[in-house]
Amino acid sequence: MLLDNKVCLITGAAGARGIGLKTARLFHEHGASVVISDIDEAACEAVRQAFDPERCLVVVANVTRREECRDVVERALERFGKIDVLINNAGITQPVKFEEIDPEGYDRILDVNLRGMLYMSQAVVPHMKAAGGGAIANTSSVSAQRGGGIFGGPHYSAAKAGMLGLGKAMARELGAFGIRVNSVTPGLIDTDITAGKLTEEMKAPILEGIPLKRLGLPDDVANAFLFLASDLSSYITGATIDVNGGMHI
Ligand code: NAD
Repeated sequence: MLLDNKVCLITGAAGARGIGLKTARLFHEHGASVVISDIDEAACEAVRQAFDPERCLVVVANVTRREECRDVVERALERFGKIDVLINNAGITQPVKFEEIDPEGYDRILDVNLRGMLYMSQAVVPHMKAAGGGAIANTSSVSAQRGGGIFGGPHYSAAKAGMLGLGKAMARELGAFGIRVNSVTPGLIDTDITAGKLTEEMKAPILEGIPLKRLGLPDDVANAFLFLASDLSSYITGATIDVNGGMHI
């Protein structure tokens, strides 16, 4: 049990097939109390039924709204008294080409992926500081490293690259307070963001470029988060773990 007595807050964690929910389940199995937050009310309701209520709190919230992030944190503290781990995982894509990016799409993609990480981290960090430490990990993307993915747009690459930069800056500033900040860059993971959008025809050339010859699973990413959340990674901060089957070697 790697997370016994830890309280872990995960954003974007109600999607039935998503990385966030898989991570919440794995953390729960490892002894953590989990705070699951997501903008999707129906998905939150379904998750509420599925977890042991003693060790789970589900809060509907939009990470682009600062007051809603603060509310999630307040409710988590009321319920569990502390937050040891934050996983900034909420994210959206918009698969358009560079010249098709419009101001609204740009704002939406930057807001959810990057501003959301800023706001939720700002809400959590004072409490981690007061408690003497904590671990933050962020879901960036191989799109940040390659300058493009299959389902994101160029603004998604920019937002996910922004998350890497923000995460490293936070790691530098917050290390002295015992707070570690790391990132995971998933490759193509089989979740709702990708499901149903990949035809067999599209799949073949993609798999060609992945040395491990398969799409990633949400479990693959959740396992990396388990490592980054636990004391196994206690001397690791500012790092990026590629979970992409080798597609960015
Ligand atoms: P997903 O759609 O299941 O998860 C994203 C979750 O974020 C959803 O539950 C959604 O409701 C929630 N969300 C969206 N906007 C929100 C907001 N404003 N506030 C709070 N929650 C919000 O898909 P996923 O693939 O599990 O995505 C999880 C993360 O992984 C995202 O950040 C995504 O960009 C990233 N990612 C996914 C892949 C992939 O191939 N699936 C690859 C690299 C990175």
